[in-house]
Amino acid sequence: MRPLKRSILKYLKQFVIPFSGLPEGEHWFDFKIEKEFFECFENTDILEADVLLRVQFIKRSTMLELEFGFSGSVKSECDRCLGPVNLPLECDEKIFVKFGNETYDEAAEVLVIPFGESEMDIGSIAYEIIYVALPMKRAHLDSECYEDVEEYISIEEEKEDKIDPRWEQLKNL
Ligand SMILES: [Zn+2]
Repeated sequence: MRPLKRSILKYLKQFVIPFSGLPEGEHWFDFKIEKEFFECFENTDILEADVLLRVQFIKRSTMLELEFGFSGSVKSECDRCLGPVNLPLECDEKIFVKFGNETYDEAAEVLVIPFGESEMDIGSIAYEIIYVALPMKRAHLDSECYEDVEEYISIEEEKEDKIDPRWEQLKNL
């Protein structure tokens, strides 16, 4: 388990939405996602981040509907030259939340939080959505890679092709 450092907890607190006092209906929340956000999840792949997250929060009597909208970009290491590469992040994701005793209703793809819960921590949900949305292959366009490592790159790519049979299998799907 990740050690719960005080500074991390403090930072992530801003991603908790207290909803018990809200009237039923639509509410909007804005969040700024920066490098520190990723560090809280022990992610060191992201070198920089400048992303606006808008959450449309609909409170209903029996459930919650959250629509996450991300816009901005992050910087990561290029897979080929290891230089910084800019990755646009534009995506939307809808999450349904109901109240219950189990934690996740797989059949309905609904998140479940305990009855009587008064707040919703959206930090880790946002992190997961971002992670899935970012491309697997993070690289510059060929011509934009840093030149001095080009030879190294072609050798590494050759090696990768040979040693990772999983990708071969995926191609045949
Ligand atoms: Zn590159």
